[in-house]
Amino acid sequence: MAADGYAAYGSYSISSAPEPARLEVTVQAVTHGEVSPYLVDVVEPGDQLEIRGSLGGWVVRRPGDPRPALLIGGGSGVAPLMSMVRAAMKPTRLLYSARSLSDALFTADLTTARAADDGRVAVTHVYTRVAPPGWPTPPRRLDAEALARVAWPRDADTVAFVCGPTGFVDTVADLLVDIGHDPVNIRTARFGPTGG
Ligand SMILES: Cc1cc2nc3c(=O)[nH]c(=O)nc-3n(C[C@H](O)[C@H](O)[C@H](O)COP(=O)(O)OP(=O)(O)OC[C@H]3O[C@@H](n4cnc5c(N)ncnc54)[C@H](O)[C@@H]3O)c2cc1C
Repeated sequence: MAADGYAAYGSYSISSAPEPARLEVTVQAVTHGEVSPYLVDVVEPGDQLEIRGSLGGWVVRRPGDPRPALLIGGGSGVAPLMSMVRAAMKPTRLLYSARSLSDALFTADLTTARAADDGRVAVTHVYTRVAPPGWPTPPRRLDAEALARVAWPRDADTVAFVCGPTGFVDTVADLLVDIGHDPVNIRTARFGPTGG
C-alpha cells in the first residue's frame, strides 16, 4: 500500500519449484497496464509488497499423481508451468506459444531442460509473430496439427495443463478435446483477455 493509502492488486503464479526458502513469480509487463509495469519497471530490491495466498488448487500437479503431463502455455501462461517443469519427476512435455524469441520467457532454463534430454522434459516452442532465423516453420498460432505432434496418445492416461490468455486457453482446450482428450483431464488457468 502506498503512503497515501492507494493499493493495487494482481494475480501472479508461482514459477519456482517448491522450495521452503524462496518464492519466484514471473511478471510480463502489459502495455498500459497498472500493476505489471509497476512490478517490472518500478519495484526495487528492498521494496515491500503484500502477498496473499497462495490461492487455487485446480492447476496443481500433485507429487503423488503418476500420470505424464502435457503442459501448454501461451505468453506469461508459461509461468506456473515452469514451476512444474522445474519440479518434474515424471515425463513432462511442454508446448510453449510465444510471440517471438524476444517475448519468450525462461529461454535459458528451457534450453537447459531440453539439453538434459533425459526423457523427463521435452520442450517445443511455437512462435506466433516472428520465428527465429532458421526455424523450421513460419510464425503461426498453435493449431491441431502442432498439438497432435506433441500430445500424448489419446488413449494414454495423462493430464493436460493449459495456461494463458483467455482466448488461447479456450482454443487449446477445444483442440485437445477435438483430438480425443477427455475434458476431465484438462486443467485450465485463464490469465485475462490479452494475447497474441
Ligand atoms: C490466476 C492468474 C494467474 C496469473 N499469473 C500471471 C503470471 O504468473 N505472470 C503474469 O505476467 N501475469 C499473470 N496473470 C495476469 C495478471 O494477473 C494481470 O492480468 C496482468 O499482469 C495485467 O495486469 P495489469 O494491472 O498490468 O494490467 P491492467 O491494468 O489490468 O490492464 C490490462 C490491459 O487492459 C487494458 N486496460 C486497462 N484498463 C483499461 C480501460 N479502462 N479501458 C481499456 N483498456 C484497459 C490495459 O491497456 C492493458 O492492456 C495471472 C492472472 C491470473 C488470473
